[in-house]
Amino acid sequence: MPLIINDVYPKKLFREDGKRLDGRENNEIRPIKMKVGVISNADGSAYLEWGNNKIYAAVYGPREVHPHHLAKPDKGILRVFYRMATFSVFERKRPAPGRREKEISMIITDCLEPVLFLELYPGTAFEVFIEVMDADGGTRCASTTVAALALADAGVPMRSLVSAVAVGKIDGQLITDLSGIEDKAGEADLPCAITWFNEELSLLQFDGDMDLDELNESLANAKTALNEILQIQLKALKSKYTTILEEQEGGES
Ligand code: ADP
Repeated sequence: MPLIINDVYPKKLFREDGKRLDGRENNEIRPIKMKVGVISNADGSAYLEWGNNKIYAAVYGPREVHPHHLAKPDKGILRVFYRMATFSVFERKRPAPGRREKEISMIITDCLEPVLFLELYPGTAFEVFIEVMDADGGTRCASTTVAALALADAGVPMRSLVSAVAVGKIDGQLITDLSGIEDKAGEADLPCAITWFNEELSLLQFDGDMDLDELNESLANAKTALNEILQIQLKALKSKYTTILEEQEGGES
């Protein structure tokens, strides 16, 4: 059962033992699993489970731009389509893409663009389709992370991977990787994404209230979590090739 019913939130977001409602320590991220090459009809793809979030990303391109007027003569374009399935949340979600989905698609585009060499692909488009099957807070960060992995799986030249996570504040304490309930009932939520080639934040949103010291500490917490997430992305990419190698070696013996 979800913890939020009819927008009534629990009064406390920490348990008696000092842990968060899902049993995590303040700076602990939720369990994350990632896999690449999961959609056979895509040029590249990835699947991610991040706590209760379940998200697919499929990449196509470089390919012809439709509608044609969006094409740019001097560089390629990146188009990201973030969608949440109607069954992905407890309340009914309207099937048509809403303003939130359009905003998140735009944010993810901005996060990913800096790592691509779009100038090498004039007149074409890279398209990234993201489907959130199950949502529980932090889907824009999880989607950015899985989309970067799908681009890498497609063999698209990239300056580096991109990783993302939200940090924030609940019941006066700083925390890492907010769940859905922490996002809704907490005091502050800061989704961040990093482009690893220059270690710059390609996303920093802020919703809520915290002072400057808390902001600096939160950003340091985010950096630690982003490093953990990068390692999981790299492991998922490598495991595709080690599996192919193992299969080949198995076939030869
Ligand atoms: P993010 O998923 O990036 O944290 P939001 O802050 O907008 O984005 O949403 C927080 C959470 O609220 C989502 O992860 C999802 O669990 C839930 N949510 C978002 N949109 C809806 C919706 N239309 N109906 C019900 N729950 C939603």
